[in-house]
Amino acid sequence: MQSKSPLSDTKSLFHIPADMIYLDGNSLGPAPKAAFDLLNRTIHTEWAEDLITSWNKAGWFALPTQLGDQLGKIVGAAPGQMVVTDTTSINIYKALHAAMGLQPEKKTIVSELDSFPTDLYILQGASGYQGKYEIRLLGRDSDCLDDLLDETVACVLLSHVNYRSGTLFNMAEITQQVQAAGALMIWDLCHTAGVVPIDLDGDHVDFAVGCSYKYLNGGPGGPAYLYAAQRHLADVRQPLSGWWGHARPFAFEPDYTPHSGIEKFLCGTQPIISLRGVEAGLSVFNGLDIKDIREKSVQLTSLFIEKTRPLCTEYGLVLQTPENEAERGSQVSFLFEQGYAVIQAMIAEKVIGDFREPGLMRFGFAPLYLDEADILKSVEVLAECLKNKVWEQASFQQKSRVT
Ligand SMILES: *Cc1c(COP(=O)(O)O)cnc(C)c1O
Repeated sequence: MQSKSPLSDTKSLFHIPADMIYLDGNSLGPAPKAAFDLLNRTIHTEWAEDLITSWNKAGWFALPTQLGDQLGKIVGAAPGQMVVTDTTSINIYKALHAAMGLQPEKKTIVSELDSFPTDLYILQGASGYQGKYEIRLLGRDSDCLDDLLDETVACVLLSHVNYRSGTLFNMAEITQQVQAAGALMIWDLCHTAGVVPIDLDGDHVDFAVGCSYKYLNGGPGGPAYLYAAQRHLADVRQPLSGWWGHARPFAFEPDYTPHSGIEKFLCGTQPIISLRGVEAGLSVFNGLDIKDIREKSVQLTSLFIEKTRPLCTEYGLVLQTPENEAERGSQVSFLFEQGYAVIQAMIAEKVIGDFREPGLMRFGFAPLYLDEADILKSVEVLAECLKNKVWEQASFQQKSRVT
């Protein structure tokens, strides 16, 4: 008898709307059913009834570090090195300054042209302070990371998976390469946490950031996270020196003294209701092994690539995702000029993918609530949309504010 897959029951932990195939968990994960009770209790009991006492009684104050430790189990971080707080953008700002401050004499930062834009925007903002920084970009200044590294580089900021192509970087190798050049490594885990095995401690990463609302299913705008390696905690500083990062927040002293632990990366009062959403998202991972999740993820993306191959030939879709499974995350993307209309037409058939300018159709495969049948059905719907030339219909060309 075949043993039962460890992920065969996880779909029931989520609310997936009737008849929907949701291939957009790489952008906003679906609601874990656990969120409904937890958020209800947070609102009706902790907030409405218990009010201010909940900071202690319901453990509100400890949520950023408690959830940070819980998330640490998913991304290979021992306790005391992660906080769940703020947005990814804000955490990139803090991590960049933290890294810059550890080697203030080095005035170059390396990143990638094809980064998610907020990473570059924040980098442009952060590098304008603390004196003048040169920014070198992979894909603009060179296609080879080694060319960009020298003794002037303070830190390197890269996304573990490229949000457009789905290409996966080798975290261990690149971290080692960067540190050998004397720089610090900051990873953005937005597109890998919860779906790709990550070993932050084992790979000797310096800092990491990421969001909770993609494969971690923490809810729209759910607080993001920041990892700082234990070896940096004593010396590192971050510029948003708010009272939650103070050594003694309730001493109400006039001068800032940073906390000695990871708490120094907190700033102000945390969004407790949203943190409970993250708690519900993380609870789904209890008892699961990321290796099983990765294995199923690879099966699903491989199947999708294989089944869409004839469509690429017939209609000119250009696969953007590496065919080598070790080099891809959990999404598959195609360049196709009429991609926007095709995605809209698929959504009308309840197969939800998304579109990124210019011309990129993206499909995310979250193994916790998708199976082979969903993949086969999605390919059928995609084929039908292409065959029917849906881009000739005006209703599928209308662009909304959020794509
Ligand atoms: C989703 C995503 C973000 C989002 O940042 P926010 O501050 O949460 O809006 C940042 N970086 C990457 C790589 C992402 O995929």
